[in-house]
Amino acid sequence: MISTYHRPRTLDEALTLLTQPNTVPLGGGTLLSKPTADSVAVVDLQALRLDSLRVNGNDLQIGATCTLQSLLEADECPTPLKTALKLEAPLNIRNTATVAGTIVASDGRSTFATMLLAMDAKLDLIVNRQSKIVNCGEFLLTRPSGLITSITVPLNAKTAFEFVSKTPADKPIVCAALSQWNSGRTRLSLGGYGKTPLLAMDGTEADGLDTAAKNAYHEAEDEWASAEYRMDVAATLAKRALEGIS
Ligand SMILES: Cc1cc2nc3c(=O)[nH]c(=O)nc-3n(C[C@H](O)[C@H](O)[C@H](O)COP(=O)(O)OP(=O)(O)OC[C@H]3O[C@@H](n4cnc5c(N)ncnc54)[C@H](O)[C@@H]3O)c2cc1C
Repeated sequence: MISTYHRPRTLDEALTLLTQPNTVPLGGGTLLSKPTADSVAVVDLQALRLDSLRVNGNDLQIGATCTLQSLLEADECPTPLKTALKLEAPLNIRNTATVAGTIVASDGRSTFATMLLAMDAKLDLIVNRQSKIVNCGEFLLTRPSGLITSITVPLNAKTAFEFVSKTPADKPIVCAALSQWNSGRTRLSLGGYGKTPLLAMDGTEADGLDTAAKNAYHEAEDEWASAEYRMDVAATLAKRALEGIS
């Protein structure tokens, strides 16, 4: 339950408010506004102009409060990332939920976080008023607190996103996201299971991609699918992603 609401006009003001106990950033509020027993003070980020999308050399810099739908509709957004965004949440939620709120709230079934992990996205994070760049992989594993101001993804990598789900619009049971750079560097991440997407491979070439996918999901058993099923599907999706990468 939100007990106190702040809407600062400057980043400095927001950072000061966030030093208060039990006070968290508010993005789109789709998760924070859900009823809970605990009360929390929120710092609404909407007046801070953190919603821009900017191409910077080979990178796309996505402001923390950019909504999932704005990113999806942007010409600069790579097509596989658009597919992942569409699967993340239905349209009404995509129109409100922000990129930063979504990555903070993500679990292993998040298609958006799975794609960001494969793209080796970087997060601009402010902790104790110190700005630092955190790799998406590190962020997802350690979940540090702080204020995310932007997320940067490369535009010079080829990417692919493949998935299997019960219906075309459902959250995938298994998804595979792939990025490949001109150097041959190949990153494969898997989603559809557990607390966070898994990085299955980050290599100098694509050799052994399907085996890496299979091995990464050897314990991926839950009420949706057996580990054996996920291992086979992950290997197939990884191969398909490599064949279709563009
Ligand atoms: C009706 C409904 C349906 C939903 N359906 C789905 C679904 O199908 N699949 C699914 O995965 N989720 C679903 N959700 C959950 C929710 O949509 C996502 O988690 C959402 O993407 C969160 O984004 P937000 O911007 O609204 O975050 P908020 O609710 O504003 O915040 C979420 C978390 O992120 C933190 N945060 C926000 N911005 C920042 C920042 N800049 N820096 C640091 N921390 C920040 C907040 O403090 C909070 O801890 C649904 C929610 C609703 C209400």
